[in-house]
Amino acid sequence: MKRVVIAGGAGFIGSHLCERFLSEGYEVYCVDNLYTGSKENIRHLLEREKKFHFIYASILDPLDIACDLVLNFACPASPPHYQKDPIYTARTSFEGTRHLLEMAKKYQARFLLASTSEVYGDPEVHPQNESYRGNVNPIGIRSCYDEGKRIAETLTMDYHRFYGMDTKIIRIFNTYGPRMLENDGRVVSNFIVQALKGEPLTIYGDGNQTRSFCYVSDLVEGIYRMSIKDNFVGPVNLGNPEEYTMRQLATLVLELTQSSSPLHFLPLPEDDPKRRRPDITLAQKALGWSPTVPVKEGLKATITYFQKRFFG
Ligand code: UDP
Repeated sequence: MKRVVIAGGAGFIGSHLCERFLSEGYEVYCVDNLYTGSKENIRHLLEREKKFHFIYASILDPLDIACDLVLNFACPASPPHYQKDPIYTARTSFEGTRHLLEMAKKYQARFLLASTSEVYGDPEVHPQNESYRGNVNPIGIRSCYDEGKRIAETLTMDYHRFYGMDTKIIRIFNTYGPRMLENDGRVVSNFIVQALKGEPLTIYGDGNQTRSFCYVSDLVEGIYRMSIKDNFVGPVNLGNPEEYTMRQLATLVLELTQSSSPLHFLPLPEDDPKRRRPDITLAQKALGWSPTVPVKEGLKATITYFQKRFFG
């Protein structure tokens, strides 16, 4: 039986990964300090799954769990959360990643880093493929996360080259779905929660900036395929190439929730990328992976999730 350590396993994406690896027959060690993760996300696993273990710990401390695979999903990932304590965010990316790499080295385990489209910064190349080196501000308010993930990528590649470790990097583009935090500050959760509560939808800037939204089940499939793929280090983009402006997204959310909330325009945050869309050619070729859930369907499922949470 294989043993996987999922750091950040009580978070939005991490908890879906725990479910997937359990269903694939793994013994799952979910490591989380509940900074943005929540026990609610994994309660059903704690109650029902014998092969699921929760370890309350921060990756800022060294860990020692015998395992075959380590997945690093431990980092606050939405702008309000990663900006709340930017030094903590940068330390989590560097020191935390190093601790997990050391553990993987000790047990000769495979290591996968969850990196991000943020490594491309405010991109001058569109859509973004993996060979694009990015346009990142090293001293801005997003840098703790952007540069944090960039140094985490560097560290991962250096462990691969220097110690010959089996490492992998994925770059995750905007992802949404059940178990997003309602106070995450992300656009999908904000719009849905605002629409359901009849509050104004907050659009930052003129709303013409774009993002591409991937439903969580599609992302998990891509991550799983990457985790079990031999001889493929990456980095590889994982995301849905369907691109929307924030205005279009707001219109779609209003339509699907049948809400008559007005739009409320607010200033654009500093260094907010203008356009973002993944080029997923590499993932298609190397992993045979493409997203399958249309945005409308994914949004409907996410709306149902938030409806249940708020209105029972
Ligand atoms: N955004 C918005 N209203 C919100 C939250 C976010 O218009 O209530 C915008 C934000 O400025 C950005 C886009 O939506 O251009 C995506 O923001 P999010 O924080 O979800 O993700 P990221 O910027 O990290 O891609």
